[in-house]
Amino acid sequence: MALGSGGQFYDELETMTVEARREHLNQRLREAVDHAYRNAPAAREMLDRAGVRPADIRTVEDLERLPVTRKTDLIELQRRNPPYGGFLAIPAEDVERVFISPGPIYEPLHGGRIKWFARSFYAAGFRKGDIVVNTFTYHLSPAGLLFHEALRDCGATPVVTGTGNTDIQVQTMLDLRVTGFVGTPSFLMTLIRRAEEIGHDFRRDFAVRRAWFTGEPLSPSVRKTLEEDYHISTCQAYAVTEPGGALAYECPEKNGLHFMDDYVVEIVDHETGKQLGPGEIGEIVVTPLHNRAWGLIRFGTGDMSSYVTEPCPCGRTAYRLVGIMGRTGDAVKVRGMFVVTRQVEEAVSGVAGVSRFQVVVGREGQRDRMTVRVEPAGEGVDRDTLTSELNERVQSVCRVRVDRVEFLPAGSIPDGAPRVVDERKWD
Ligand SMILES: [Zn+2]
Repeated sequence: MALGSGGQFYDELETMTVEARREHLNQRLREAVDHAYRNAPAAREMLDRAGVRPADIRTVEDLERLPVTRKTDLIELQRRNPPYGGFLAIPAEDVERVFISPGPIYEPLHGGRIKWFARSFYAAGFRKGDIVVNTFTYHLSPAGLLFHEALRDCGATPVVTGTGNTDIQVQTMLDLRVTGFVGTPSFLMTLIRRAEEIGHDFRRDFAVRRAWFTGEPLSPSVRKTLEEDYHISTCQAYAVTEPGGALAYECPEKNGLHFMDDYVVEIVDHETGKQLGPGEIGEIVVTPLHNRAWGLIRFGTGDMSSYVTEPCPCGRTAYRLVGIMGRTGDAVKVRGMFVVTRQVEEAVSGVAGVSRFQVVVGREGQRDRMTVRVEPAGEGVDRDTLTSELNERVQSVCRVRVDRVEFLPAGSIPDGAPRVVDERKWD
């Protein structure tokens, strides 16, 4: 099947069986580790230090034996051993392009036109005939160029607008009858508001009907506004610059983000590096399989999430990432489970009668205790009902039982206080 030839799926990998995918990923992982070990001195050193031979890494599960490399490690390694920190795995003259992330981190790319990247845009509905403003930067970071090429691979025509220039973007969208937007949700909202400020009726005068987002979370309320008020179909992807691309993407079901098959994505306990199962929250760790120039193995993104294995009604078979719940720095481990600010907010936002709240993790003997402190919204709130609703919501969203709900007078929790506080003493 030709790539992006007009069917429901971009390519046949999207509908592989679970078994076929496991074999596909294991096979490519073995090749990637072997190639990195042979050609990238930093990868070789990392394996040697862990006492692991490339032949020991047969499956995704075997990756647990290797340490996680983080952004700060990469910056330091590149500073000591410029320019690529020993991760370059092909001759320097064969590097097709170099991207630069804050740090700086220099990221060599081999194979500039990566066809599979388009899966994410294809799933969002981009096709031949679409004219799309690509409002990501074309400088330094991979975003602008990679998204541009992916739009082309779906047959769409990108307009090279890049970031900023609100008025020019609005005029361009009008003049070219632009049908698609690629950027952040907040920037699309800015463009719509600007168009309305200068007297346009956005729905009547503009032709934008689909949007693809990454770079910031898409809140349910913004999504609702865009979809219902402006009839713009929205899809988001999870992209990370260092490993070079979108690791997961939404399908028309908009219920979780399917893993991209050109990476091995693990969810791990960021303190131990051990892999976690479906539904457990941990750090997203990624090994790119598509870029022979870059011998990066187990890159720790610092983002926390979990994944689900239930089949998706869209027909894509890759497991799905459940949004991004926060950063490793915000995560607090309670009785072996990570609890993250965003997740707690999600849990409590579903309970009526809460004005302010704070989750406090302490210890009683050898046991962690989780307390939810609540300022009720007024005198009329039934405390027993509120307590049982909080218990139920937090348990279902965070998978950790609440030990106690404590009611505080209004004004006890200051503005800007952290949502999750760890009061345990570590010595
Ligand atoms: Zn799906």
